[in-house]
Amino acid sequence: MRSLAVVGGGVIGLAVAWRAAEAGWSVTVIDPAVGRGASWVAGGMLAPLSEGWPGEHEPLEFGAASLARWPGFAARLAAATGISVFVAERTLTVALDAADAADLRTVAEFVGERGYDLRLLDRAGVREVQPNLARTVRVGLLSVTEAAVDNRLVLDALRRCCAAAGVRVRAEAVADLGELPHDRIVLAAGAASALLRPELPVRPVKGEILRLRHRPGVPPVPEHVVRARVHGRELYMVPRADGIVVGATQLEAGFDTAVTVAGVRDLIADAEAILPALGEYELAEANAGSRPGTPDNLPLIGPLDERIVVATGHGRNGILDIPLTADAVLGVLAGEPLAEAKAADPHRFSTIRGRVTSERVTAATTSGGAL
Ligand SMILES: Cc1cc2nc3c(=O)[nH]c(=O)nc-3n(C[C@H](O)[C@H](O)[C@H](O)COP(=O)(O)OP(=O)(O)OC[C@H]3O[C@@H](n4cnc5c(N)ncnc54)[C@H](O)[C@@H]3O)c2cc1C
Repeated sequence: MRSLAVVGGGVIGLAVAWRAAEAGWSVTVIDPAVGRGASWVAGGMLAPLSEGWPGEHEPLEFGAASLARWPGFAARLAAATGISVFVAERTLTVALDAADAADLRTVAEFVGERGYDLRLLDRAGVREVQPNLARTVRVGLLSVTEAAVDNRLVLDALRRCCAAAGVRVRAEAVADLGELPHDRIVLAAGAASALLRPELPVRPVKGEILRLRHRPGVPPVPEHVVRARVHGRELYMVPRADGIVVGATQLEAGFDTAVTVAGVRDLIADAEAILPALGEYELAEANAGSRPGTPDNLPLIGPLDERIVVATGHGRNGILDIPLTADAVLGVLAGEPLAEAKAADPHRFSTIRGRVTSERVTAATTSGGAL
C-alpha cells in the first residue's frame, strides 16, 4: 500500500485524507492543531455566483464547479456520519444605496450571461423572501443555488470519516517536507503553506468574525444567507441552528489573529444596519483566522514535483472549494488530472519551478492518459 502524508488538517487536508484513504492510500495527517485553522473560524457560505464580477471568469467557474459537487459531497458525509451540514439553501444579497444596487445589476448580468441563475428583487420582493430586514434595503439579488454549511459540522464529519477510513493523525508541526518518508505528500497547510515552500504565492489574509446566539423572544434568525455592502465594507450573515455568524473583516495583517475592538464594532454596526434585531442577540464568540490568499483569488492545486502535491490558497472560498479540491488532488494522485481544476495549476505562477512536471500533467489532461 502506498503511503501519503497530508500536511495540514483543515477542511482541505481532511477531505483529501479521507478520499485518499478510501482510494487505497495509507494516509497520515500531520498537524499540531487539527481543525483549528481558518476552517474552524469560517462562515460557511458557498457563494461563487454572488461574488461574481466581470472579468473574473475563472474564479466563478471554479467555484461553480465545486458548488455543483456540494450536494453529492454532503450526502456522502451524511451517509457516513449521520451529520447534515447544510444550514441554508439560498443566498440573498441586498443593496442599501444606488451604487450598490447598480453593482448587483452588474453581477446579475455577468453571472446570467454565463448561464447561472441570479434573480433581481425589488424592495417588496426582498421583504417577501426575507422579512425583518431594515426598511432602507432597496434591492436584492437572490441566488437559489447558493447554500451554506456549518463549517464546524463539516470538520466534525470529516474527522469521523477519516477515522473510519483508517487515517492516522500525528499531532506535530512539519518543519521540512523533505524529511517525510512517505511516497507522496499533500501540502495543505493553509495560510502557512509558504513557510514550508517559500515559492508558493500564498499569504495570510486576516478575517474577523462573530457568532451571535439567538435569545427567546427575539426576532428569528434569517432563513437565508444575507449579504450586503455597508459603508463600503462587505458583510454577510450565515444562519446556524442556534443563531447567526456575522463576518467578516478582510485585512493584510500577516499572521495576526487578534480580534480588534474596531473589527467587532464595525461588524455589529453593519449587521444592525441590515438586520436591526441583531442587537438583541447574545454575542457568543468573536474570532479571527488567516485565509490562505493568492494573487489571483484562485487556489493552488497540483504537483510541485514528483512527490509533493499542493492544495492550498483557497482564500475566501476554502469551504466552498472542498469537493472540487478533493476530486482534483485525487486525480493528481491517480495520474488523471481533472480538467475542471486546470485554472488552479500552481505553475501559472513563475515563482514555481518544475515546468517538466506541469507539462506532463497538461499532456496527460489533453490525451486522457496517465502520468
Ligand atoms: C473569517 C473567515 C471567514 C471565512 N468564510 C468563508 C466562507 O463563508 N466560505 C468559504 O468557502 N470560505 C470561507 N473562509 C475561507 C476558508 O475558511 C479557508 O479558505 C479554508 O478554511 C482553508 O482551509 P485549509 O484546510 O486550507 O486551511 P486551515 O483550515 O487554515 O488549515 C490549515 C492547517 O494546517 C496546519 N498547519 C500549518 N502549518 C503546519 C505545519 N508546518 N505542519 C503541520 N500542519 C500545519 C494548521 O494547524 C491548520 O490546521 C473564511 C475564512 C475566514 C478567516
